[in-house]
Amino acid sequence: MTTILIIEDDPALREEVIGWLMFEDYEALEASDGREGLKLTQEQLPDLILCDITMPNLDGYGVILEIRANPLTAQIPFIFLTARASHEDVRKGMLLGADDYLTKPFSRVELLKAIQIRLKKKELEEDALHQQIEMLTAMVSQEREQRLLKSRIVSMFSHDFRNSLATILASSGLLKTFGDQLDSVQRQRTAERIEGSVRRLMQMLDDMLVLAEMESGRFKFSPQRLDVNALIASIVEEFQFTYQESHTIHFESQVSKNVAVDPQLIHQIVSNLISNAIKYSPSGSTVEIVLTEDNGLLQLRVQDFGIGIPPNEQGQLFELFHRASNVGKIKGTGLGLAIVKQAIDLHGGKIMVDSTLNQGTQISVSLPIAS
Ligand code: ATP
Ligand code: MG
Repeated sequence: MTTILIIEDDPALREEVIGWLMFEDYEALEASDGREGLKLTQEQLPDLILCDITMPNLDGYGVILEIRANPLTAQIPFIFLTARASHEDVRKGMLLGADDYLTKPFSRVELLKAIQIRLKKKELEEDALHQQIEMLTAMVSQEREQRLLKSRIVSMFSHDFRNSLATILASSGLLKTFGDQLDSVQRQRTAERIEGSVRRLMQMLDDMLVLAEMESGRFKFSPQRLDVNALIASIVEEFQFTYQESHTIHFESQVSKNVAVDPQLIHQIVSNLISNAIKYSPSGSTVEIVLTEDNGLLQLRVQDFGIGIPPNEQGQLFELFHRASNVGKIKGTGLGLAIVKQAIDLHGGKIMVDSTLNQGTQISVSLPIAS
């Protein structure tokens, strides 16, 4: 309820105003001199003050001076009720911080109107202030989150970088020192380990650069009209070559025309989805990749027959660092799908997950084909 304090030494006027206020459902407080008014203000913190100028025990100027000097009461809307309407008096009152003044005698309508205007103005100011506070709070927490994120990304990558570099160092050391004692299969395996680690490092570097650009909003989306079929086929070929021993990777495409896409982002999308399909499915299994065009949508489906994703965790996969609970010892940083999601968003596309635990996962991506 809105509380209004009237400080007025004329009992008849005071009574009348209080009647008007109560009729409008305001809660009315009254004081018959400046001192008492000041005390009530500090105790009750009313929403608005109506105050006479000439009063015993501290006049209206003295009251507003003290009210404006106290941070707790400084913002309370203040209206002078004055019998003296000389320019000088009004000017003095406004200079001391009054918001408005009413010259006696005033009507009920004049008084209520003045009150409503002041209360409305105060409300608007408070709303604006709240909005500003909310905006600042959001900015601060976003800033903090980004800083945390950055340090997490850095520590994650440096940890993974170190692991891959250690593998390369150990494998090349093995070849250098014991190369002639290894049989051809062992030598081949060691070389492949080096190759795998280098590939992983390159992928991580790409991810890190793209992610840094996306997070800072500096990523420049640059679609080009190109042969997507050829682009995706070349990415698939690289995987087929690298994983020829462990996985059968099928690629089927019914798309032949040129489409406007961002090649760097398509690379991120396709390589992350295929790498997941391989990583989360057993050696000897098959990965199926199908590219189609349907109703102005470019559709890419990547299907594996692997560990699957628990149903209740499928919603969070696109969050940074999120990894499902069934990954066991399979390595990963949880960044891949977050990048994929952003890359798809930039194209204005959609991604869908269809997965059954211990049976397999199908990820479908659809991108609108700009005409
Ligand atoms: P990286 O950043 O190295 O790709 P990651 O593979 O763990 O690490 P994402 O690619 O973002 O991260 O995938 C997030 C999580 O989603 C994975 O940790 C895994 O739990 C789950 N996931 C993604 N693809 C599959 C899949 N094909 N089969 C099963 N689980 C998957
Ligand atoms: Mg991944």
